[in-house]
Amino acid sequence: MDVKYDYLIVGAGLFGAVFAREAVKKGKTCLVVERRGHIAGNIYCEEIHGIQVHRYGAHIFHTSDKKIWEYVNGYAEFNNYINSPIARYKDELYNLPFNMNTFSKMWGIVTPGEAKAKIADQIADLHITNPRNLEEQALSLVGRDVYEKLIKGYTEKQWGRDCRDLPAFIIRRLPLRFTYDNNYFNDRFQGIPMGGYTRIVEKLLSGIEVRLNTDYLQHRDELNALADKVIYTGMIDQYYDYCLGVLEYRSVRFETEELEQENFQGNAVVNYTERQVPYTRIIEHKHFEFGEQPTTIISREYSSEWKKGDEPYYPVNDEKNNGLYRQYQEKAREEKKVIFGGRLGSYQYYDMDKVIAAALDLCGREL
Ligand code: FAD
Ligand code: UDP
Repeated sequence: MDVKYDYLIVGAGLFGAVFAREAVKKGKTCLVVERRGHIAGNIYCEEIHGIQVHRYGAHIFHTSDKKIWEYVNGYAEFNNYINSPIARYKDELYNLPFNMNTFSKMWGIVTPGEAKAKIADQIADLHITNPRNLEEQALSLVGRDVYEKLIKGYTEKQWGRDCRDLPAFIIRRLPLRFTYDNNYFNDRFQGIPMGGYTRIVEKLLSGIEVRLNTDYLQHRDELNALADKVIYTGMIDQYYDYCLGVLEYRSVRFETEELEQENFQGNAVVNYTERQVPYTRIIEHKHFEFGEQPTTIISREYSSEWKKGDEPYYPVNDEKNNGLYRQYQEKAREEKKVIFGGRLGSYQYYDMDKVIAAALDLCGREL
């Protein structure tokens, strides 16, 4: 059979779509195959009664990289949404990320000096100098009350593991501030694309042949024969039929419903930090876009252990899994025709801006 395309791109997510667009700009031909019945991977949004519903979890675009911000603004106009989740512990409400609003509500204090003194007082007897796990890291940053009410239950639900068995870096993803500032991110640029994320990927893929409901691994030989090179953005261990072992993920189940009311919780994101509540958070999608529709759509998120066949969401980047990933990476390096990319191909928690940057980086090397 004649080779018809320069690139076969496996996965119509953000990584595959950016690569495809840049390749076409350089005069290359591309075929994109996607296992699901829609494009856009995990940033897929479905419009229901005028509301963009984030089907695979809430997505807020944020970056400090001006080049990436300009790139993505070439494909969408962004609104001025700033993520400021609320944490609910029983009937107490706190602002996130951990900042002076959180501390003031927790302890009735007013100044940064008072907050720091309170935290120091709560951990004085622990003598943590080099935090070995998430619990020690969290305690040393925010003290015992914030840890017990806002971190321990949420984290153990989210990861299905004791906080002492989780790496410290997970909690360092969150800003900690001694100012009255509820912005969940420190990045310079932030927003939600007006009209939803799917439209971005539609534009990136416009004019490019996409075959939906096509699993590359089930048609590997015939698809490989169609192209000179393959860009693979699926799970790297699955590509090798799990021959070295299975990489672990956390999965999420979404329970989505439309409510006959205008405003359910008054905020896009409310985290339920208590261990007893079975879901981790409730997303009210319309608030990402300041929507004024007569009804509202909410999604409860239940975190679960991933097993083969489930959607993989969060890689469990502990030592065991990272070690296994490195072994797969060795195999991948020997491939002549296949390049691995994206969050599943590189077994990394990648925010969207990092995925775009990684795809553009590959384009720079490859095209
Ligand atoms: P994906 O979107 O997963 O695309 C890969 C595609 O490949 C999928 O469509 C899949 O079906 C397809 N595929 C896999 N195997 C095969 C196969 N064998 N054959 C054919 N097709 C295949 N980032 C942010 O910047 N901000 C956020 O707020 C944010 N929130 C998030 C919330 C959650 C719950 C999660 C899990 C992630 C979040 N992210 C966020 C990260 C964001 O989702 C990713 O950066 C982005 O979706 C990764 O794009 P990708 O193309 O690498 O992977
Ligand atoms: N976290 C927490 N309480 C919260 C929100 C977050 O303890 O109300 C912890 C939790 O361990 C989570 C980590 O902070 O995994 C990072 O938060 P982020 O919002 O980045 O979580 P993710 O993107 O993983 O959902």
